[in-house]
Amino acid sequence: MTDSAERPTPPEGLPPELVTELRECAPGQLRKAIVHAQELLHFHGEAELPIDAEGNDDILRVTEHDGYTEVVKQFRCADGCDDCPHGPYLYHVTEEPRPDGESKVHWSFMGTVNTEEE
Ligand SMILES: [Zn+2]
Repeated sequence: MTDSAERPTPPEGLPPELVTELRECAPGQLRKAIVHAQELLHFHGEAELPIDAEGNDDILRVTEHDGYTEVVKQFRCADGCDDCPHGPYLYHVTEEPRPDGESKVHWSFMGTVNTEEE
């Protein structure tokens, strides 16, 4: 038996039966689960725009550019702190095609956006 204290906490909203299944998986199976989850996202048409405002992220601005998407977002800590919300931060989001036909979404952190000076 593994020490349960070392287990990561599953994200909120993930069905418990799925959590149980994933915990039983070997690393190789987990990788396949990720691939399959991405395939399902494509199937649902949700992989087109790799930007989601789930959780504690606030998407402030999304600008399409040639080859990348510029995203400005801020986020709040799960419990909140004196500095919340954090940011806004600027990201360049690119989709990198991979040999297996999937594409990998890559978020590049570009820096903090100063909204006061515009
Ligand atoms: Zn905070």
